[in-house]
Amino acid sequence: MFLNLTETLINEEKVVETQVETQITEVSVGGETYPGHALSPVSFVFTNTGKGKARIDAKAAFVFTAGCDRCLKPVEQEIALCFTREVWAPDAAADPAVYEEQPFMDGFTLDVEDLLISEIVTSWPMKILCKPDCKGICPTCGRDLNEGTCDCDHFVPDPRMAAIKDIFEAEREV
Ligand SMILES: [Zn+2]
Ligand SMILES: [Zn+2]
Repeated sequence: MFLNLTETLINEEKVVETQVETQITEVSVGGETYPGHALSPVSFVFTNTGKGKARIDAKAAFVFTAGCDRCLKPVEQEIALCFTREVWAPDAAADPAVYEEQPFMDGFTLDVEDLLISEIVTSWPMKILCKPDCKGICPTCGRDLNEGTCDCDHFVPDPRMAAIKDIFEAEREV
């Protein structure tokens, strides 16, 4: 979905409010693709903030299906967005680098999905868990340890240990 922002960008003090149905059906984060959709139309307010300049205020809510980081069970992950972005008309940005920071703009046109996807990726949670104390799956037999223990001969971390393990893993990822 493309929105032409010419009116807001060229008319001082112009404010345009609109609701948009997005066509987002998935998002790719860190090489994984997660299916999902918007929970409601996205609310936009476009406010002129000077010559060839506008502010975008947006509110949106999405739900994506992702596997639990420990047991791989599908989890519905809600992403609520509420953000503000400044945009420039192509000829108004004094510094061309400013214009390059808005890849979701093509001239006076906003690519709604492009903008929203970049915001979703930024808001993507570090950890996705089906529940805070998910015990994960047994690395030997694959049993879901939330449903009971298995007979494998190995140390089964309790949820507190799993939390500590996450901290170590997070540190290693940095
Ligand atoms: Zn889980
Ligand atoms: Zn096992």
